[in-house]
Amino acid sequence: MHIKQAPTVYICILNYKSMAYRIGTGIDFHQLKEGRDLWIGGVKIPHSKGAVGHSDADVLLHAICDALLGALCLGDIGVHFPDTDAAYKNIDSKILLAQTIALIKKEGYSVVNMDTSLCLEEPKIKPYTAQMRKTIAGIAGITEKDISIKATTTEKMGFVGREEGLMAYASVLLEKVV
Ligand SMILES: [Zn+2]
Repeated sequence: MHIKQAPTVYICILNYKSMAYRIGTGIDFHQLKEGRDLWIGGVKIPHSKGAVGHSDADVLLHAICDALLGALCLGDIGVHFPDTDAAYKNIDSKILLAQTIALIKKEGYSVVNMDTSLCLEEPKIKPYTAQMRKTIAGIAGITEKDISIKATTTEKMGFVGREEGLMAYASVLLEKVV
């Protein structure tokens, strides 16, 4: 028997406040210098160098904040937490992430999942990714299974290869909940 399928009709309303899903991407870089702590993904990692920045310079949390803000066209981390503001001097980036999550919740969205990549030569971050995922999940109100943290080197090329700096990328998906 042949069943004729009715055509599916999609209605697209060009107003993000009524869209079910939004995607965002973020990228961040920091220099690495001796005499600084190395914070990545909300976790302090023992290393001979740390990331340089106005805040605690957590490259992964900053990339995630930018992805969250980007998903809702809310500008970037520099707009919300300017590095010229003394209030953010050496601030724990977990606070910045919590404030960013509060912003997207205020807009009626919650996080579905995050996929991130770190790019650094040293140290190996695999021993710390479980703790990073747990930390970020706790702030974002999702489970660790919804957070991916990958890592790569640049095969000794460029500023990452020379261990002068590190970088992070993040993609997030948001879902409208109210
Ligand atoms: Zn940063």
